[in-house]
Amino acid sequence: MENKSSLKDELVLDVQDLKVSFNTYVGEIQAVRGVSFDLKKGEVLAIVGESGCGKSVTAQTLMRLVPSPPSVIKNGSIMFKGKKGNVDIAKLSNKQMEKVRGSEMGMIFQDPMTSLNPTMTAGKQITEGLIKHQGLSQADAKKRAVEMLKLVGIANPEERVNQYPHELSGGMRQRVMIAIALACSPRLLIADEPTTALDVTIQAQIIQLMKELAQKTEASIILITHDLGVVADIAQRVIVMYAGKVIEKGTVDEIFYESRHPYTWGLLRSMPRLDSVGDELVPIPGTPPDLFAPPKGCAFAARCPYAMEVCLEVDPEQTKLSATHSAACWLLDPEAPQVERPVEAGGRQHVR
Ligand code: SF4
Repeated sequence: MENKSSLKDELVLDVQDLKVSFNTYVGEIQAVRGVSFDLKKGEVLAIVGESGCGKSVTAQTLMRLVPSPPSVIKNGSIMFKGKKGNVDIAKLSNKQMEKVRGSEMGMIFQDPMTSLNPTMTAGKQITEGLIKHQGLSQADAKKRAVEMLKLVGIANPEERVNQYPHELSGGMRQRVMIAIALACSPRLLIADEPTTALDVTIQAQIIQLMKELAQKTEASIILITHDLGVVADIAQRVIVMYAGKVIEKGTVDEIFYESRHPYTWGLLRSMPRLDSVGDELVPIPGTPPDLFAPPKGCAFAARCPYAMEVCLEVDPEQTKLSATHSAACWLLDPEAPQVERPVEAGGRQHVR
């Protein structure tokens, strides 16, 4: 029998030094610049950052959903522990990848209306993968589709299974997407802003549903979001990305209350959070750098109120702060001046 703690620590994903570029007619965009992280079985990992920070490209590269060309994986490995053992996603052919994607990974997109096929019933869209990847008969697949609709909280699933997307509400369509993504019992589920297109009440229901499903199915989830309230509610660990790099990572508490990177502080002050309703949101001044020609030093330097000379010259390495927490900032150097973490970014503690 498998030991419970070894199950919990089992790595489903181990990404090392991933670099992804887009070749365009005006040059190369370095969208992901050396990203490393891992994901355990049953864990929910949130990736946060402003638009264009590389979070969606990273997540979609894990499923090889970014079209190549124009995208190219320039470097790195994406070790995925599938049902048949470890594979490096970065090295699989498109054909091999199709199999992994259909049976072992699922994706939930932002807008179910554009991701669902309007000409197919909800049931048909759920059964497709079951017939193709699990070899189920038409009748068994339909039975499973009804079960899946029930699992994701759709009332009258026997009736809904025969309906088309336009006959369903926005919340129901998102539930159908989740049912499609979960139908083949994937080990990895990637949810890219899964609640952005929904109204607030439905958002809360979908997040609750994802939380329950993560526990029930033991699927590992990567959640891409700009909503820190959602992060606090569902994730165990967080990666903060900026200009194609991971600039800080840690547990939810480490990021919310002990963050050490000025960009994370800015993000915490600029994003809505559940535990500080009514606080004024402060946008981060300036814009992210041009990824056609990323700066040689810290990419956040032009917007950082603490930038020093060294920041403009040398990109800081990750500094390990605990077994789970690290950040890439020159302020963590023993020689750097001491600065206070802003109150709105989780406290008034000194950063070293
Ligand atoms: Fe600011 Fe320098 Fe830290 Fe970059 S390395 S975040 S510029 S203090």
